[in-house]
Amino acid sequence: MKTMAALPRAPLAAGLALLLLALYPVVRPYSPYPQTVLLLAFLLGIQAVSWNIISGYAGYVSLGHSAFLGLGSYTTAILASKWAVNPLLLAPVGGVTAVVAAALVGSVVLRARGHAFVIITIALLLAAQVFAVNFRSLTNGSDGITLPLPPWSRYIQNVPFYYAFLGLLTLTVLFSAWIRRTKLGTGLIAIREDEGKAAAIGVHTTRYKVLAYTASAFFIGVAGGVYGYFLTFLNPIGAFSILTSVTIVLAALVGGRGTLYGPVVGAFIVQFGSEAATVYGGGSQSRVLLYGIALVLVVLFLPTGLLPTVQAWWRRRHPAVIEYTDQAAALGRRSARVREQEGDVRAAQESHAVAPGEPLLEVRGAAKRFGGLVAVDGADLVVRQGTVTALIGPNGSGKTTLFNLITGGMSADAGEIRFAGQRIDRMQPWRRGHLGLGRTFQVTRLFKSMTVQENLVAPLPDARWRNLVAGSVSGPQAQRARELLEFVGLERFAGHRAGALSYGQQKLVELAQVLMLEPSLVLLDEPAGGVNPSLVGRIAEIVRELNVRGMTFLVVEHNIPMVLELCDPVVVFSRGRAIAEGPPDAIRDNSLVLDAYLGDEWRPLASSAATDSGASDPAERRRRR
Ligand code: ADP
Ligand code: MG
Repeated sequence: MKTMAALPRAPLAAGLALLLLALYPVVRPYSPYPQTVLLLAFLLGIQAVSWNIISGYAGYVSLGHSAFLGLGSYTTAILASKWAVNPLLLAPVGGVTAVVAAALVGSVVLRARGHAFVIITIALLLAAQVFAVNFRSLTNGSDGITLPLPPWSRYIQNVPFYYAFLGLLTLTVLFSAWIRRTKLGTGLIAIREDEGKAAAIGVHTTRYKVLAYTASAFFIGVAGGVYGYFLTFLNPIGAFSILTSVTIVLAALVGGRGTLYGPVVGAFIVQFGSEAATVYGGGSQSRVLLYGIALVLVVLFLPTGLLPTVQAWWRRRHPAVIEYTDQAAALGRRSARVREQEGDVRAAQESHAVAPGEPLLEVRGAAKRFGGLVAVDGADLVVRQGTVTALIGPNGSGKTTLFNLITGGMSADAGEIRFAGQRIDRMQPWRRGHLGLGRTFQVTRLFKSMTVQENLVAPLPDARWRNLVAGSVSGPQAQRARELLEFVGLERFAGHRAGALSYGQQKLVELAQVLMLEPSLVLLDEPAGGVNPSLVGRIAEIVRELNVRGMTFLVVEHNIPMVLELCDPVVVFSRGRAIAEGPPDAIRDNSLVLDAYLGDEWRPLASSAATDSGASDPAERRRRR
């Protein structure tokens, strides 16, 4: 029970720390120096916690996050001097400016995956600086802006700033905690772990990333407004400093990026460290050196950061008890309601469904080449509503690549793909997911650091905005996840890390995950590959059961007995295109197929089958032989 008891300790410790920090100026109102050190730690904490939303949760590292601090300071300072209003009141406007800048930059850059983002974030910082230097009429250029001195007594000069930053830090942490608990948060972690997979299960990755980036700007912008007033002087070099950006990253890395409290802990460590270096080490030069050394040490010895390292050590000393147990019980109690809702969804889906036997998926002349290699070569394929269609063929014949073209993991060089009558080959993967197209992967792609439960709630069946703020471990979606886990027989693993499950179990979890999309067509890529025989039977049973309920399947599989038993029709692929299609019996006897794939092992079987009309079950035939 120790780990369960340890979990609520973090908010308790945070609350206690907050209380002590809130009391400090009351106890010692006339000590500006320690107050300054602390309020700068709060400020760094606000920035590191915010940065963590895009760079920790979603994994998109920003090296220019101090741009938002500068934007907030400048906006607030300019408006305050124009309107002669106290800057503290205008600080939220600084937050809005930061949000607008982030939304604009993000919605352009975050369409693409990967490293372009890092570069652009630095560019944003430098561009803001250049703007502040050159737009003299607004910013007063390099001469900077001087703000009025605060009206309150200089004996308690820092106290209002102290509370402003402490309050903002608290709000930022609450905001980050809230995001982490929503489906938006789960989606961001999914993006960090496997962006392609996230898109395949309906996560609108671009929208998620832009939202995260925008959310990560707001509190920094507000804090910037307060900070400018605290400094009473702004200049472009100081306001848009790359060193501040690096400090933010360092703080988050030291404490533990991707965790809730890590960036706060890191901010205190880095701020105190840098203060000590300035006082004892002789000025800001030593600070840069210190950052460099700290960064190297963290990367080498604390790659996950302080907090996760301590947590891992704690878990090793106090071996895990299964978490989420209470949650499991609570979810079970409410599962009846889910069933009702499920009925609604299904009814809604059926209203625009394709009639049984009609083409649900049509691939016409699809092609994909990798350099000189033609993986899919003008393939045609039709999957009819209500069938379990098999796609078999030798390794390397292009089956997985065809799946990628269908679900949007790769774009086709040529051809046309229709799903339920709609052209989908130019659609984003998540749109295809929302239409009811789901897939599993040849090598499972679960989000391994997430729990099984979180893996199941990560998919998004549609693009409604309110999905984003739905709870990830509570609410109807979570209950549905519970039901699906029960369905595949893995409910007792709900709270386990997905990576800890056996390979076959992971395949089942991935199937349950796809079912969260309420798909009408599921593409299974080698569902029985590498799975022990008893689970193979379970998988076949599940497919059959879902098929009876109206779900259509396209199955790539090398387990021929399973294919012949489960699937009809069977399509045979060779060198990137279909060479035969028909009911299992016909395929088994087709000489083209025997040559291209099944081989001689099946040949005598085929000829004996021709004379032996009684047995259609392949296992049965083998026994007779
Ligand atoms: P199958 O699933 O039928 O075994 P694949 O679709 O995985 O076949 O692969 C078909 C061919 O395309 C193989 O020769 C494979 O090496 C190649 N291929 C698949 N994916 C890629 C890729 N991302 N880059 C380059 N070549 C690839
Ligand atoms: Mg394959």
